[in-house]
Amino acid sequence: MKVAIVGAGQLGRMLALAGYPLGIESRFYDRSADTPGGQVAPIVTGEFDDLTRLRSLARGADVVTFDWENVPVESLAAMRAFAPVYPQPRVLGVAQDRLLEKTLFRDLGIATPLFAPVDLRSDLDAAIGRIGLPGILKTRRFGYDGKGQARIRRRADVDAAWQALGGEPLIYEGFVDFTRELSLLAVRSTKGETAFYPLTENVHEHGILASSRAPCRARALQKSAERQVGAILGRYGYVGVLAVEFFVARGRLIANEMAPRVHNSGHWTIEGAETSQFENHLRAILGLPLGSTRARGHAAMVNFVGRLPAPRRALAVNGLHLHDYGKREARPGRKLGHATVVEASAAARDRALGRLLRLR
Ligand code: AMP
Repeated sequence: MKVAIVGAGQLGRMLALAGYPLGIESRFYDRSADTPGGQVAPIVTGEFDDLTRLRSLARGADVVTFDWENVPVESLAAMRAFAPVYPQPRVLGVAQDRLLEKTLFRDLGIATPLFAPVDLRSDLDAAIGRIGLPGILKTRRFGYDGKGQARIRRRADVDAAWQALGGEPLIYEGFVDFTRELSLLAVRSTKGETAFYPLTENVHEHGILASSRAPCRARALQKSAERQVGAILGRYGYVGVLAVEFFVARGRLIANEMAPRVHNSGHWTIEGAETSQFENHLRAILGLPLGSTRARGHAAMVNFVGRLPAPRRALAVNGLHLHDYGKREARPGRKLGHATVVEASAAARDRALGRLLRLR
């Protein structure tokens, strides 16, 4: 079984690693060979719009997938002449544009923050008039890890936000005064088999995921999240892992965004679930039976952003699983690795989380 993975970041690397025990051969595509994925499996290098090279990658594969959300949809669509591409490129097209994404949520009856498209400065004033303050101005496309966002707390912030982001298509969202952030990971195979992981509770710092804990046991929220994410799967006959991030406000879920791929908030599943999100993504896109998504215990995951702890220090923490993505260059805001612990109780897990956080 041969899988072509467009984008060779840490997500692709963990996909390839999950494939090895199953005899799944991965081959990457990225601009440079010295990438987290390129260190663990063969890689073809080229630009993401070089259709000739992309097609040659797809030609030898049973299925094509991607680990990066900004792959041009047209490139993936062109590869479909040679191998199926999952998740479906048209879902990626929706996820790449915050306005299309929130419109999809609204069409499916999924609650979202109040939002309005903003192209001109006058649109921003009108959006603030309608939705109110505080809010967040975001670029519709190419925003990730808190980039391309400006908080608008009061009128005096409007000019600065417009100066920072104005000129490209934007969306203004009402600020959600949330108590918690949760994500739900779903997986659906080419055969229509569907499974959901338990809800994960996430903490972000400066727009970047800092830590996750799972399972987050909240029966009513789990049911509601599964219903909502199930509606998205159903709309597209979706194939692969799909992650949806929610805010919890007044006990209700409000959808923030979706990612049609494996997701950082699911890294705990490598050691903390019976089948990891990476293995289940591969099983799903290859039409294999899905593995159980049950939690094996209580897991916590901490991201190492900008700096990795010395292995000697990290590995001294009892039960810690260290993941170093092999990135040669440490830059502020860059995810370099993560660590996970799995404990028998939620209380022990929370104590272990404290130890992980102190490694940063
Ligand atoms: P995003 O890139 O949309 O996932 O935003 C990154 C983080 O910024 C989220 O995980 C939240 O912590 C925060 N954030 C984004 N949008 C909102 C919003 N409408 N209300 C409150 N917080 C938000």
